[in-house]
Amino acid sequence: RELPADPETENYRRQVTGAIYSRVNPTPVRNPQLLAGAAEVAALLDLPATIFQHAEFAQVFAGNQLLAGMEPHACCYGGHQFGNWAGQLGDGRAINLGELRNSKGEYWTLQLKGAGPTPYSRTADGLAVLRSSVREFLCSEAMFHLGVPTTRALSLVTTGERVRRDMFYDGNAQFEPGAVVCRVAPSFTRFGNFEILSARGDNELLKRLADFTIRTDFPQLLSPTTTEINSDIYLRWFTEVCTTTAQLIAHWMRVGFVHGVMNTDNMSILGLTIDYGPYGWLEGYDPDWTPNTTDAQGRRYRYGNQPRIALWNLTQLANAIYPLINAVEPLQAALEQYRAEYERCAQRDMANKLGLHRFDPERDQSLTDDLLVVLQSAEIDMTIFYRQLAQYALDDIDQYTDQQWFDKVALAYYAEPTAEARFAMINWLRRYGQRLQQDRVLHNVSDAARRAVMNRANPKYVLRNYLAQQAIDSATAGDFSEVERLLQLLRNPYDEQPEYESYYAKRPEWARHKAGCSMLSCSS
Ligand code: AMP
Ligand code: MG
Ligand code: MG
Repeated sequence: RELPADPETENYRRQVTGAIYSRVNPTPVRNPQLLAGAAEVAALLDLPATIFQHAEFAQVFAGNQLLAGMEPHACCYGGHQFGNWAGQLGDGRAINLGELRNSKGEYWTLQLKGAGPTPYSRTADGLAVLRSSVREFLCSEAMFHLGVPTTRALSLVTTGERVRRDMFYDGNAQFEPGAVVCRVAPSFTRFGNFEILSARGDNELLKRLADFTIRTDFPQLLSPTTTEINSDIYLRWFTEVCTTTAQLIAHWMRVGFVHGVMNTDNMSILGLTIDYGPYGWLEGYDPDWTPNTTDAQGRRYRYGNQPRIALWNLTQLANAIYPLINAVEPLQAALEQYRAEYERCAQRDMANKLGLHRFDPERDQSLTDDLLVVLQSAEIDMTIFYRQLAQYALDDIDQYTDQQWFDKVALAYYAEPTAEARFAMINWLRRYGQRLQQDRVLHNVSDAARRAVMNRANPKYVLRNYLAQQAIDSATAGDFSEVERLLQLLRNPYDEQPEYESYYAKRPEWARHKAGCSMLSCSS
């Protein structure tokens, strides 16, 4: 390939060895316009909410202008994609602007996604389209407010450029508006950053990256006297990655989030949700569901498989960092920790979702297993079902008729259930009611206290796929108000918000098969 006139300052695609990042400037764009900003993320950076009105904001966060101290660079990583080692593949379109230390002493990395090619872009353009950027911006903020660990989003800027994409629904090339999201996280390091170095046999750089990661993002593992990071510390680090990853996946399962592309390059070393692509939210409860059309065959990344996939991904990370530890058994013990932590979180979450004082495996395992079967007996909206469960009043349930039992959850059904499915649900609800009454006798839990716990575990509002799509359609037509409205709604997903009651609704039928509303591809 022909070299650029000035290889010092110009961007070009190249083989990068002996390094894990390259300095690279964002590509200037024609007409940056701010579409939306998250004031609470600005606050993390000690920036006032008025920063979004600043004339230069869009210029800086589209990549047209660098501020003093910014040192833009892109990081290199590989990954296992759909179960196979895919070699070097990222980051072809994320440029870190640098790291900022706030007044609390926290470090935040600012990263532009879609600000032009990097040395790692291979044949792709380094850009992002409005559609996927709206999805990333809204969902990362929604996840944060749900209490799910995640990268954050400061801003969403349109670039005034047209970006070519081969759309999945008709196979034709289309031009879509370009956009840039500024993401914010303590670190964007992924499992794949370690895997690429290990795959290259570059153990020295592998150690440097691990040491850097531990010193900057896991300082709790070091004591003031630590000079050399030894295999014991690497192991404790890996164990912590296993633990936080387990907690992350439990959150996803609790809120019904399906990431869609759990490749190892999309796994954060900090246990954050990262890379919002063809993700989706369970509507009808179905463990086999995936929003990702690219994964429609194997359904590797389906909802119900996420806990297992995270463990598989951690196993790949264990293989990658093996040269730092040189022992198999302690790594296996750490992976065991993943299982234990996941089970602990999942049981706690299930107890909270059902409003049980505590998960007692002897009684509650079969109660919850049976619930998951009943939830599949018809198309039943997961979010609405759990939220409705908080409506039973224990003083009344002794007198409930079948109809009264059913009425509370009827709202969650996409269609009239068969007599059999209805009977199964009522049966389960009656059992559940007895279980709650036991708790009341033993632990004196009031209806109000139980509801409060349930309503913290069961969101009322999630970013349903069709809601995101409606916001995208409006934004594409130049109306950003729906993006703003969803951002505002999703700031308080557990609260009753009467002004937004219409958003507490099942996916409408028109959205069932509409592109973008239920199925998505990786093309973004
Ligand atoms: P994903 O499957 O979206 O996580 O993408 C995997 C990797 O592909 C990313 O880390 C990027 O490096 C690269 N990639 C995706 N889209 C683009 C693009 N438009 N330009 C350059 N690289 C891209
Ligand atoms: Mg950091
Ligand atoms: Mg990715």
